[in-house]
Amino acid sequence: MEKLLELDNIHVSFQTYGGEVKAVRGVSFTLDKGESLAIVGESGSGKSVTSKSIMRLLPNKIGSIKQGSIKFQGKDLAKASERDMEKIRGAEISMIFQDPMTSLNPTMTIGKQIMEGLRKHQNMSKSEAKERAVNLLKLVGIPNPELRVDEYPHQFSGGMRQRVVIAIALSCNPKVLIADEPTTALDVTIQAQILDLMRDLQDKTGTAIILITHDLGVVANLAQRVAVMYGGMIVETGTVDEIFYKPKHPYTWGLLASMPKLNAESKELLAIPGTPPDLMNPPKGCPFAARCPYAMEVCLENMPEATDVSSSHKAACWLLDERAPKVEPPEEALV
Ligand code: SF4
Ligand code: MG
Repeated sequence: MEKLLELDNIHVSFQTYGGEVKAVRGVSFTLDKGESLAIVGESGSGKSVTSKSIMRLLPNKIGSIKQGSIKFQGKDLAKASERDMEKIRGAEISMIFQDPMTSLNPTMTIGKQIMEGLRKHQNMSKSEAKERAVNLLKLVGIPNPELRVDEYPHQFSGGMRQRVVIAIALSCNPKVLIADEPTTALDVTIQAQILDLMRDLQDKTGTAIILITHDLGVVANLAQRVAVMYGGMIVETGTVDEIFYKPKHPYTWGLLASMPKLNAESKELLAIPGTPPDLMNPPKGCPFAARCPYAMEVCLENMPEATDVSSSHKAACWLLDERAPKVEPPEEALV
C-alpha cells in the first residue's frame, strides 16, 4: 500500500499565560491511499490538535509544531510555507467540522460556496463549476440539486447542511478528508445517514479519511483502523476488529465500557472516573496512571513504550510487559 500521509513523532504546544501546554506529545501514524483511520479519545486528548496540525490550522502565534514531521506525498507539511499550504488545503487535504453552520457562509448561495474552491484550485469556468456543483449535490444525496444549488444555507436542515459541507470538501477530489466529529451536532438518525454517506463516498471516490471522534460507536461503521488517544499520545492502535475484540489498553477498555450496548439491561453509561492529565505539567509516567485501576509503581515513574501485539496492533501499557501480572479486560469492555 502506498503511504499517503506519515506523521512521525509530532509534538504540538500552546503558549498560554499559565505556561506551555503540551497538547500533542509524540504522535506517529500513517495513512494509506484510500484508507480510513479513526482517531478516538475524550475531549482534550489531542485528536483535534493533531488534525489541525496536518492542515497547519493551529491558532497563530499561540500554537506551534515543536518537533516531528508530517509527510504528505513526500513533502513535510510541518515545514511547508503558508503559500504551499494554501494550494494543499481544500484541494489535496480537506476538512469538515462538527457544526456545518459555522463552516458555511450564510450570505452566499451554496452553489457559489461549492464553486469557490473549484474556481480557485481547478481553474474551472463559471459554467463548468456550476455543473460540477450540481453533480456534487446529487452525489451527496440532496434532492432537486438544480434548484437547491441557488439556495442559502438557512434553507437547508442540519443534516442537509452537513451534506453540503461534505460536497464542498470533496469538490476538488482531495486525497485526504479529515472529518472532525462530523456527526456530533446531528440527531441520531441523521448521524447514521451521514456516516453511511461518507462510507459510500469513500467507496466511490477513493478518498482516504481521518475520522476524529469521541464516540467509538461511530468508528465501527466507517473506519478500518483506529488510533486511541489519551493525554496527547496514541495509547493503542489497531484494526477495528483488534480494538473492539482484542483491546489491550485499560483506557480503551474504559472507552468500550462507556459505549451504549444494544443488549444492555441498564441504560446507564459507565463513564471513566477521574479527569485527564494536566498537559502543562504532564505526568512523567503513563498518562492514564491517575485513572487506571491497574496502575503499578512502574507506571507512575516510567512512560510505557508502544509494544507490538500483532503486526497491525500496538499498545503502550506496562501490562504488556512480560513481568506484569496477567490482567483480562473487564466484562463491561466486551463488545
Ligand atoms: Fe494502567 Fe500502567 Fe497500563 Fe498506564 S501503563 S494504562 S497506568 S497499567
Ligand atoms: Mg475536538
